[in-house]
Amino acid sequence: MPLTDDAPVPRPNQLIDPYGRTVDYLRVSVTDRCDFRCVYCMAEEMTFLPKAELLTLEELEVLCRRFMAAGIRKIRLTGGEPLVRRNIMQLIRALGAEAKAGALDELTITTNGSQLVKMADDLFDAGVRRVNISLDTLDPDKFRQITRWGDLNKVLDGLRAAQSAGLDVKINAVALKGGNDAELGDMLAWCGDEGFDMTIIEVMPMGDIGTENRLDQYLPLSRVRADLSKRFTLTDIPFRTGGPARYVKVEETGRKLGFITPLTHNFCESCNRVRVTCTGQLFMCLGQDDNADLRRALRDGGEPALDEAIVEAIGRKPKGHDFIIDRRHSNPAVSRHMNVTGG
Ligand code: SAM
Ligand code: SF4
Repeated sequence: MPLTDDAPVPRPNQLIDPYGRTVDYLRVSVTDRCDFRCVYCMAEEMTFLPKAELLTLEELEVLCRRFMAAGIRKIRLTGGEPLVRRNIMQLIRALGAEAKAGALDELTITTNGSQLVKMADDLFDAGVRRVNISLDTLDPDKFRQITRWGDLNKVLDGLRAAQSAGLDVKINAVALKGGNDAELGDMLAWCGDEGFDMTIIEVMPMGDIGTENRLDQYLPLSRVRADLSKRFTLTDIPFRTGGPARYVKVEETGRKLGFITPLTHNFCESCNRVRVTCTGQLFMCLGQDDNADLRRALRDGGEPALDEAIVEAIGRKPKGHDFIIDRRHSNPAVSRHMNVTGG
């Protein structure tokens, strides 16, 4: 519903979209590159963006700061693999200092875990307190099949490093039909033993993934939940992050389990977030192509033009997306890959 007389009155330093939703969460994809090639995310042969097209780390920082001035309270860095971008700690330290000073509620990172052995301590020192680590299987061969280039042991060592550094870890697993569906219960039990919350994600139809077929991968989470319910007591809880996950408490472990179900469930009504790519395109919705060119605004007009472009773009945030995977729609609903907009 568009903004009405009953809708919250915008305070200064708040971004409110046409449907009355406060946008206070920014996800920034700092690179489209990655050291893995997950089968649902990328084709094996990927052409990445020329480096010259990327925002510099300094530009990314300015962009984040202008969003913060407009009311953004939480920033998540993602990618591609955010921790493979050269000198990324420079940006993480700058934003982490804002989190330590209270100007941001939180700076978080979504990572495949491959760099955590060497970076976990630095992340904690910089002010990061939570990381989401993507892990779809605990079977080394399957891990290799799913990520094509990944090494499970390296990721598990990274996970341990994150724990010892004091980082709170959440595990993200994409549910893959015939890939890890039989194993999700064991992974949930393992997360309980390790003290991790877990989120299970439905495959989203984003980007051409080469020879792989979405229909072969797609597994509705309603089925996953029904399967897990045979082994665990799952109690709905009202916990919300303003995002696409709905949470339950796993009574046997006491940990949270989230389901991200963009296809079987629409989650747009409470959406509080926008996403910026590493080239400065602002996407107001993960599932729509409309975007704003913040790089041009910043490079041509400086910070005032950037501020204006941000407000103008939030004014175009759509009500929702229209992801569908069925026999007639096995092509991507949006042409860009997840590594461009970040997860
Ligand atoms: N490389 C980092 C990682 O894997 O965590 C960050 C970027 S990755 C694009 C972010 C999340 O998106 C990961 O949890 C990944 O599993 C998920 N993802 C990638 N492609 C997806 C797709 N087509 N559908 C659903 N989730 C996807
Ligand atoms: Fe890389 Fe993450 Fe995509 Fe896997 S999901 S290919 S780790 S960006």
